[in-house]
Amino acid sequence: MTAITLRGGMAWDGLADGLVDAPLVVDEGRIAAVGTDTGAGASLDVSGCTVMPGLIEGHAHLCFNAGNDWRAVFDNDSPGRMLLRMAAHGRAMLEAGITTVRDLGAPAGLAIEMRDAFASGLAPGPDLLVSGAPITTTGGHCWFMGGEADGELELRKAVRARVKAGVDWIKVMATGGQMTRGTNTLAAQYSVDELRAVVEEAHRLGRRVAAHCHGTAGIRAAVEAGVDSLEHCSFMGRAGMDRDDALIDRMAANGTVVSPTISIGYRRWRDEGQRKQRAELTRRLLSAGCRVIASTDCGIPSVPHSALGAGLEVLAELGGLTPVQALRLATSTSAELLGLPDRGVLEPGRRADLLVVSGDPTRDLAALSRVRYVVKGGEVVFAAP
Ligand SMILES: [Zn+2]
Repeated sequence: MTAITLRGGMAWDGLADGLVDAPLVVDEGRIAAVGTDTGAGASLDVSGCTVMPGLIEGHAHLCFNAGNDWRAVFDNDSPGRMLLRMAAHGRAMLEAGITTVRDLGAPAGLAIEMRDAFASGLAPGPDLLVSGAPITTTGGHCWFMGGEADGELELRKAVRARVKAGVDWIKVMATGGQMTRGTNTLAAQYSVDELRAVVEEAHRLGRRVAAHCHGTAGIRAAVEAGVDSLEHCSFMGRAGMDRDDALIDRMAANGTVVSPTISIGYRRWRDEGQRKQRAELTRRLLSAGCRVIASTDCGIPSVPHSALGAGLEVLAELGGLTPVQALRLATSTSAELLGLPDRGVLEPGRRADLLVVSGDPTRDLAALSRVRYVVKGGEVVFAAP
């Protein structure tokens, strides 16, 4: 693998408030130097551009097509066809500068196969962390992915089977969801003891647990059981939002990761009151010190896989964040909180997963849509025509 020196532009390291001069040297898949031109290898002209760490998507579904017909498409896919669909979505994400993705729901065998194919270079795509089929109650949220399990014994077996198959995370549905008819989005799907069995078994085997939760009762059960990341965490109640600030403070004290899945889909919200409540919740989560990461739930209707950059604009608006604060949540912060200390920051020794965009994303997040180059593991995997 030849060394590459990116010259002529600026760099944002994933942490700082501002930019530094770009000369950035990558060698053997790693960052070799930042801010110093060692004259190594081939030269890549990044004039007018900003070099930054590749983006990390905290919650994705490669197997969904982001369309309103998602369920019919999902049900009609053969396994082979679904794998091809996942490969295409992964490629689109990589070309948008998303170099790491946590996939929190797909048929387990396919998710693992896809992750390994991307990792080996068999197909172009981001690094995947996969959960496989979410663990859910019989007929519960996303049961059609194949992860039904009821009662402590079945739950423990479900965790063991996933770890045996090779998943990176355990995903459990702590409440129902609007995408699955016949489930209750507000109520908890499992008891605290049942969720605790999932967490115990996962932790024993060195895996962390991500819990889908909308209704406040489900969030409460998941926190009580000690799950590691709360997905959506929307505090949905019978009459609008049912926010529990004491619970939020407890989440912050526990260090629970919050993955709020705020996306470009929110632009379609007509209800101003709903939008205002979500903004207040997002600000409360941040000000309480919750460990928030950027995530969009891409693949669901109206949320294209490549739209993390646009989702960050919405997250910044709702959360009252500067562009740099939003960018950290999709780079250095998410790398740290997802347990990936080898990426997310431009410093010697870290993986050379880079996004090069025209302009300055630390001033204007819209720059994220102007992708010039994507580098993964030290190789240029995408160059804009
Ligand atoms: Zn999801």
